[in-house]
Amino acid sequence: EVNVTFSGQTRIFTVSNQKGGVGKTTSTVNLASALAELGAKVLVIDLDPQGNASTALSIPHTADTSSIYDVLINDLPFAEIVQPSPESENLYCAPSTIHLAGAEIELVSQVAREFRLRRALKTYLDHNHMDVVIIDCPPSLGLLTINAFTAATEVLIPIQAEYYALEGLSQLLGNIQMIQKHLNPELHLSTILLTMFDARTRLSQQVADEVRNHFPQQVLDAVIPRSVRVSEAPSFGQTVIAYDGTSAGAVAYREAAVEIAQRGERSSQNKEQ
Ligand code: ADP
Ligand code: MG
Repeated sequence: EVNVTFSGQTRIFTVSNQKGGVGKTTSTVNLASALAELGAKVLVIDLDPQGNASTALSIPHTADTSSIYDVLINDLPFAEIVQPSPESENLYCAPSTIHLAGAEIELVSQVAREFRLRRALKTYLDHNHMDVVIIDCPPSLGLLTINAFTAATEVLIPIQAEYYALEGLSQLLGNIQMIQKHLNPELHLSTILLTMFDARTRLSQQVADEVRNHFPQQVLDAVIPRSVRVSEAPSFGQTVIAYDGTSAGAVAYREAAVEIAQRGERSSQNKEQ
């Protein structure tokens, strides 16, 4: 039995890594579900045109669905696109649709193009309390990802425990610094999560050690194992938390969620002191 409380202030994470297939979407939905289970009210924003986070949370996202595209491009109020996930009464999702694929180009000519998500989300959060918001980013560093970086305060980087894990990471860190300097001074890399860890290989362990050496404060103790149950869950419109709650993947995502919640408690206590 774990005891965590959520302190009233909304924590906004962007889950970023310009590499595809490292576990961004999987980590977004499973952490969201595990945090909801801990009692947090959680909103997932699906900012990837692929819509995989929407699928995993069983949120309709056909082309005629009102989506994050309409918020970014057509000024639709954020409240009009938020849907409850059947997985938990604490879990909500702002879905993506295929239209979002065009938003990268359409945003270029928009006013305040880097801040459209931030502004719409802020208005929504002024009227609807959420403890945690998690933004699932596409695997690129375009305007959609920049919108996530300006809307968020915390960056969560999933790192796949594989040979090329650290490649591209310095570019990502450079981009975060650039955003801090020019667009969002509050943004910081708070959390690194090792994913698809294979305990049988020395390589996985070596990558984990190297990442921990570089980022001792940010890397969570919990490590997500490579597990078929994790990869099967989305085809049932579920996270692994709901699909097979006692599997190794579900247990690991729960542990990661507890760490994230406890870190938030500690930092809000520090602010009060
Ligand atoms: P990204 O969003 O970074 O592109 P995904 O979360 O979609 O990455 O994951 C890429 C693929 O790897 C998906 O098919 C997913 O089901 C699978 N996957 C993710 N995490 C795990 C895991 N812990 N064990 C097994 N398969 C995983
Ligand atoms: Mg993804």
